[in-house]
Amino acid sequence: QDEDVRLAEDLAWRAALALDNARLYRESQEAIQARDEFLSIASHELRTPITALRLGIQRLFRLARGGAEPPWKTVATSLEGIERQGRRLTLLINSLMDVSRLQSHHIQLDLEEVDLSEVVRDVVAQLGGVLARTHTPLVLRADAPVVGRWDRSRLEQVVTNLLDNAIKYGARAPIEVTVALEDGTAVLTLGDRGIGISPDRLPFIFGRFERAVSSRHYGGLGLGLYIVRQIVELHGGTIHVESIPGQGSTFTVRLPLSFSPG
Ligand code: ADP
Repeated sequence: QDEDVRLAEDLAWRAALALDNARLYRESQEAIQARDEFLSIASHELRTPITALRLGIQRLFRLARGGAEPPWKTVATSLEGIERQGRRLTLLINSLMDVSRLQSHHIQLDLEEVDLSEVVRDVVAQLGGVLARTHTPLVLRADAPVVGRWDRSRLEQVVTNLLDNAIKYGARAPIEVTVALEDGTAVLTLGDRGIGISPDRLPFIFGRFERAVSSRHYGGLGLGLYIVRQIVELHGGTIHVESIPGQGSTFTVRLPLSFSPG
């Protein structure tokens, strides 16, 4: 009888091992698939601005070789395009670097006294060109100072990523950006009336490389919101989204005015 028990135990152990191996195999296959998908998206994303840069430079070359006085307006437009694509490339590479730093916990916050309203106004001004080019109206409510101890450039990154998305997925409808102070917490909300996010994808969009199907043809690495959430959480804050497909999305960031990590 002892022998039977041992045999049964041995069988159970082997079955558990086989199940575990199957799980490990499935997980490694999924990881390989995710890596391949990422490599293909990343190369596409990097190639697009590089192609645009090269086209812009070739256009300028042709004008320069033409001998005659170049049409300065065309020159200026080409240079603007080159600047924009260079900026896009830098942003892409910065996000890739941030993700690896965040993964290895190598991001240190440089805390100082910062006015969130001012940060938001600055970012809106920086993205003024994109807003104009995409004909996106923006309603800004960030007049009263909301001051806390935060990392200014990291907050700029949060607002830039959220606003970039609101413009990209916002279907040119008005975007509303608000900064307020509620019960000693800074609250930033960004609402758009764009494509929205389906409820089944909503829980995943803050993950690494996560993109909703509806956004596939918009371009992007699926890293922005991951980085945003990590930065907000490093500040002791939270980020929350509400969205209805076809009607729009509202992202709400809450930040304690001061926070001592650890
Ligand atoms: P990316 O925009 O590069 O794909 P993000 O991490 O910034 O990556 O966003 C992840 C996904 O969340 C996007 O691919 C998109 O599907 C969805 N998303 C983010 N912001 C919005 C928004 N304002 N409206 C609709 N969908 C959004």
